[in-house]
Amino acid sequence: MSFLRLESLTKRYGTANAVEDLSLDIAQGEFVSLLGPSGCGKTTTLQMIAGFVEPTRGRILMNGDDITARKPNQRGIGIVFQSYALFPHMTVAENVRFGLEMRQVPVDECHRRVAEALELVRLDHLDDRYPRELSGGQRQRVALARALVIKPPLLLLDEPLSNLDAKLRENMQIELRAIQQQVGTTTLMVTHDQSEALSLSDRVVVMNQGRVVQVDDPFNAYERPNDTFVSSFVGKTNLLAGDIGSVQDGNASITLGDYTLEMPFAGDLHSNRIQLSIRPEKLELTDSDNGHLQGKVRTRLFLGNHWLYQIDSSAGELLVTLPNLGPTDFTVGDEVGVRWQPGAVRILEEQAHG
Ligand code: ATP
Repeated sequence: MSFLRLESLTKRYGTANAVEDLSLDIAQGEFVSLLGPSGCGKTTTLQMIAGFVEPTRGRILMNGDDITARKPNQRGIGIVFQSYALFPHMTVAENVRFGLEMRQVPVDECHRRVAEALELVRLDHLDDRYPRELSGGQRQRVALARALVIKPPLLLLDEPLSNLDAKLRENMQIELRAIQQQVGTTTLMVTHDQSEALSLSDRVVVMNQGRVVQVDDPFNAYERPNDTFVSSFVGKTNLLAGDIGSVQDGNASITLGDYTLEMPFAGDLHSNRIQLSIRPEKLELTDSDNGHLQGKVRTRLFLGNHWLYQIDSSAGELLVTLPNLGPTDFTVGDEVGVRWQPGAVRILEEQAHG
């Protein structure tokens, strides 16, 4: 049973489609992310759900009720913006209490719920501070407490962590997920950060140019991308152009430059031009006569927990990451073989989406 249902949601500005025919069902308690590059329509989608932008076409249903024409303040939705939008002249507690006072919640209950919300985000000791006296991460948590205190049936998060530095961001990701699971609020988050979407979400909605290109759980979005856009936007990948020959008994012969490979394949393609998507961590380096492809090491970078290699191969440039299990044998200028395990490669149609 879906809690939030978007039906053919479309927003046109002049002749341009910011969001096109977007349909999506979100279950009660789910954490879903809208993920895509700048300008793909994520924020417009969120703003239509919040009621700040009127859809050109389509419907929004919450718990079965059509809320498409409702004013923002009649939707009861909690929102956390990228900028936090805290009131600078109010203390932390006053900022959090504001939404309850607007709803004329009795004073005693206000007091209790503000205390609960601040405890949830672990800011109960800072309740009389002003926003200017807080760090970025603390402000972010006040914004979250302010959204959650009204016990919204739906929480919308618009790039909530993008103003935080990398380390704090990672900590807040863990905290945000824990709080969401504890409270159980259905949550829709907009982000252009694929690692954030993968780590926080039950499902990821990948968007490109106003359209949904894949809706999947994080593991599948990463391991089984539908097309080359998803495979290169969700994580890093190597895309190698090739031709697919005859498919027999679930096996296809694939030509990559000078090489022909036999690979398991059971799909249906419109053309024999394909792209092979191979994640850098699924590649292995071997002696030059033991690889599926031969190449030469162009660069090698040490990145702490892994080594990153750039290999020039006759099928194209390849990125290879090897876990740091000690010093590696391969260095710049070496002739190497590049191998992968069966199933590590994904065969995709060339440029299915722009
Ligand atoms: P970002 O990550 O940069 O915020 P986004 O994916 O959230 O991008 P949107 O802000 O939803 O993208 O914008 C989608 C498209 O609609 C863009 O091409 C944008 O220029 C256009 N757009 C958004 N708002 C308006 C507006 N008020 N008038 C005209 N065009 C708009």
